[in-house]
Amino acid sequence: MNVHEYQAKELLKEHGIAVPDGHAALTVEEAVAAAKKLPGPLYVVKAQIHAGGRGKGRFKELSAEAKGGVRLAKSIDDVEADAKEMLGNTLVTIQTGEEGKQVNRLYVTDGVDIESEYYLAMLVDRATGRVAMVASTEGGMDIEDVAHNTPEKITTITIDPAQGFMPHHGRAVAFALGLSGALNKACQKLAKQLYGAFTSLDCEMLEINPLVETKDEQLLVLDTKMSFDGNALYRHPKIEEMRDETEEDPAEVEASEYDLAYIKLDGNIGCMVNGAGLAMATMDIIKLNGAFPANFLDVGGGATKEKVTAAFKIILKDPAVEGILVNIFGGIMKCDIIADGIVAAAKEVNLSVPLVVRLEGTNVAKGKEILNNSGLPIVSADDLGDAAKKIVAEVKQAA
Ligand code: ADP
Ligand code: MG
Repeated sequence: MNVHEYQAKELLKEHGIAVPDGHAALTVEEAVAAAKKLPGPLYVVKAQIHAGGRGKGRFKELSAEAKGGVRLAKSIDDVEADAKEMLGNTLVTIQTGEEGKQVNRLYVTDGVDIESEYYLAMLVDRATGRVAMVASTEGGMDIEDVAHNTPEKITTITIDPAQGFMPHHGRAVAFALGLSGALNKACQKLAKQLYGAFTSLDCEMLEINPLVETKDEQLLVLDTKMSFDGNALYRHPKIEEMRDETEEDPAEVEASEYDLAYIKLDGNIGCMVNGAGLAMATMDIIKLNGAFPANFLDVGGGATKEKVTAAFKIILKDPAVEGILVNIFGGIMKCDIIADGIVAAAKEVNLSVPLVVRLEGTNVAKGKEILNNSGLPIVSADDLGDAAKKIVAEVKQAA
């Protein structure tokens, strides 16, 4: 789960980490009120969307010369003008894709006199099973570009979670950023605090870009992105409350309400499968037959008829779906339950695309009987390969 910059900064602040003062705003009036609470005379108005690259982004509705999603404002009137231009408009950045994201929230924050910009991130590194700290002197840039063009400017420090953060980790980070004197000490302290925040909040990723050295020699977190392990959210009700569903794919939000693991993809063949492994295999075999899956969907082991119906509806809401492949192995879940769900859902939504069903396992004969007697044009398949071939052929034929 992701949160907005201003929310992430609140969390960091609670861990004693220095961030510029600022306030979130949903309206132009709130943005002005937020600016009035700050000392000035330099303010920064920042679009709050779950995507980076806002500074270099552009608004769809504004001219090409208009400023991006991070704007320096020299007066409260400028803050007001910027807020008017940004709120409700669509910001396109390298991370949003061409469709962009509507800006519904702003963050009005203190303008900082920057001496240098650095990069510092932390993430769970699955390869080592440890927390990796990634530091670079090339702050304020796209880290992907730095990694591509000048990989020697990126230092990775891994921390064994059993041992925890040690003073030498802090020294290594400060050294990687080339800091000396008081800043070096401040950086060591910051790295330790960040590790504390990262582990106690069950983060998946915590990125600071840029971390800045100010003209008066302070280290400040100017921009941050945080994402959290969804499986640990029950331990953090406060973070759960920060969820902004308008930033998420509506189909994925709906799926999570039914406890379905659904991820939207770019293809045209909808998949409903039980078990993540079988879902992956199903997607692979669709590709092997020359088509692309429209989604990943794991209905889980113990799905009910209601769950199957919901899954069906979610798949069909995607206008790109031209056919559906249901691939169920009835182990815990019985084939007749699935068949009931499929028939009920197909009738309810007036199914207008080809549907191929492959059932195997407990009560398979009963399940197939339900499908055959449904009066619906459901194509039955015997195995995974057969099912994929059939759905690809059906979709081609329908086109
Ligand atoms: P994004 O990464 O989405 O573009 P940032 O918050 O990193 O957004 O802002 C982009 C750039 O804008 C920063 O690299 C920094 O140079 C400048 N900037 C951001 N916040 C401030 C601030 N509070 N004061 C001064 N400059 C800022
Ligand atoms: Mg940034």
